[in-house]
Amino acid sequence: MIPFVDLRAQYLSIKSEVDAAIQGILDSCQFTLGSEVAAFEEEFAAYSGSIHGIGVNNGTSALHLALLAAGVGPGDEVITTPFTFVASVAAIHYTGAKTVFVDIDPVTYTMDPAGIEAAITPQTKAILPVHLYGQPADMAPIMAIARKHGLVVIEDACQAHGAEYDGKRAGSLADMGCFSFYPGKNLGAYGEGGMVTTANPEFARTIRMLRDWGAEKKYHHVLKGYNMRLEGLQGAVLRVKLRHLDAWTEARRTAADRYGSLLAGSGIAAPHARPNVRHVYHIYAIRTANRAQLQEALNARGVQTGIHYPFPVHLLPAYADLGYREGDFPHAEQAAAEQLSLPMYPELPAQSQEQVIATLREIYPQMNPAPAPAARVTEKA
Ligand SMILES: *Cc1c(COP(=O)(O)O)cnc(C)c1O
Repeated sequence: MIPFVDLRAQYLSIKSEVDAAIQGILDSCQFTLGSEVAAFEEEFAAYSGSIHGIGVNNGTSALHLALLAAGVGPGDEVITTPFTFVASVAAIHYTGAKTVFVDIDPVTYTMDPAGIEAAITPQTKAILPVHLYGQPADMAPIMAIARKHGLVVIEDACQAHGAEYDGKRAGSLADMGCFSFYPGKNLGAYGEGGMVTTANPEFARTIRMLRDWGAEKKYHHVLKGYNMRLEGLQGAVLRVKLRHLDAWTEARRTAADRYGSLLAGSGIAAPHARPNVRHVYHIYAIRTANRAQLQEALNARGVQTGIHYPFPVHLLPAYADLGYREGDFPHAEQAAAEQLSLPMYPELPAQSQEQVIATLREIYPQMNPAPAPAARVTEKA
């Protein structure tokens, strides 16, 4: 069986470092926030080309608090894409604001900037582009539109640790960047974790208070806050793992290149990275019209795959109240019907990749038979 991800392989490669970091927390008893979290916040903010890092308990909280810091609340609208993990939209909902979708660019799957201006109303407060699969959204036009209309931009960089756009890192491309350290993400905790990065000291100060009961200092609650602190154990583990992230990202990029060459000439569409980005391949997704059949056949031959995501958020029952219908965002709907994620993780062996693609190349033509020229002539006649 070729697994979709293998968290154990990574743990074994850094076991002694991680075990020592965990022991350090057991010894210090700094179980929530504390010095390891503070050090990780500084290191990850610097890594992301930003200034302030505020550790929180998951990526969804990062998005939620970033939106609150931007002043988003009931009566406001936030523009995002329907082709994302549901958390992007849940975070907007938590603030009381309304989600307004714009369709994706069908080639990169990220927000199509051409659709944004038509979605802006007097209620629009923020834009939330998603760096889907590890590829930054097309930030230059998004930022230009936002500046023109006085809107705050928050990156959903939950899949894009270390990704770059025009040489700048995800997390430094807008007013705030939000990251998830869910175990399967490119930088994963041993539990849950998240962070907001920002160069704006006011946003940083507000988020720092909101994550810890809105307190300016202990028991001085100046805001209605939350318990959304990052745990000490996660901070300690993430500090260790951050030191390896660039090597892991290069391994993902090498694996993506290898998939690309193995797929050449097969008729299967490999993912497209814009020339001005460093794609970090959280997900490596191919596209096929017979997705269900192909996934089943691969599974039967021992290749685990994933679907990210089978439904665009505007068609999920949970968000039916937003009032969208099938056909509203055709590119997102088609991507949701056709994308298939292949095994991808830094330790993925080259032979496993060769096996995955050999299997694909063997079964794909049977599902997509080339039309026989003789038959077409007969049809016309
Ligand atoms: C994982 C993810 C989130 C949420 O992060 P959690 O840590 O699971 O809360 C938000 N947006 C996107 C695009 C994600 O992939």
